[in-house]
Amino acid sequence: MAESLTNRSQPALEVRGLEMSFGDLKVLRGIDLTAGRGDVVSIIGASGSGKSTFLRCINLLERPSAGTISVAGEEIRLRKSRDGGLEAVDRRQLQRIRSELGMVFQNFNLWSHFTILRNLTEGPQRVEGVSFAEARDRAEGLLEKVGLADKRDAYPAQLSGGQQQRAAIARALAMEPQALLFDEPTSALDPELVSEVLRVMQMLAEEGRTMIVVTHEMRFARDVSDKVMFFHQGLVEEEGSPEKVFDTPDSERCRQFLSRT
Ligand code: ADP
Ligand code: MG
Repeated sequence: MAESLTNRSQPALEVRGLEMSFGDLKVLRGIDLTAGRGDVVSIIGASGSGKSTFLRCINLLERPSAGTISVAGEEIRLRKSRDGGLEAVDRRQLQRIRSELGMVFQNFNLWSHFTILRNLTEGPQRVEGVSFAEARDRAEGLLEKVGLADKRDAYPAQLSGGQQQRAAIARALAMEPQALLFDEPTSALDPELVSEVLRVMQMLAEEGRTMIVVTHEMRFARDVSDKVMFFHQGLVEEEGSPEKVFDTPDSERCRQFLSRT
């Protein structure tokens, strides 16, 4: 009880001084991010500016070379590995914290040989150890919520891209994460399928979910975000409210980027 109260007063996600290199290429050069509970933070920036790498470092799909990452007030314990990157000291802590960060990728990444229902029940059963009945009930509720109740027994390949992405979002939610991390969730979709995914994301934002969204959908970033961050060559070049970043950015590079989109 006391612990959950403490955690509730902490940001859902806090990243400090994150750095990362691929060989000699310094891709992240000291990124800070604080997302309070229920905040929607959009990350924008040119291709190659480090947006995906940043999201992947948050749950240690890539190894940062410096920095700290905390989820609901709990810092991931890290140590230098032999290659100079940081690795988790405790695999179990890492797995637990990863399960608090729901990832949604550009290419959906559903398990193609599982039904949609099983895509949603697998994580809760395997990682959280919940019973099948509970995982199924949770999954059915979430499929209802994203408008896919009738697709529970279909396989991913039988769904449109927009439906697959909504299923991927439901799968992320099935783990009941503290925060959702989206990496260009609509970039692989045919234009007519983008809005159904953005609508689901907007609904989640309105529900008070904490979301970090890498996106090229400037309209979404402006309308839904509490904060926008503009990445340039591995640094946060501009950040603030959507109004500030879109209407009166201090950075000339940010202004130029926006004028091209
Ligand atoms: P963004 O998502 O903003 O387009 P990325 O995070 O994908 O940018 O990439 C940032 C930089 O890191 C780019 O210069 C890219 O070429 C490089 N990069 C990304 N992944 C790798 C990798 N696996 N190996 C080497 N370089 C990479
Ligand atoms: Mg990317």
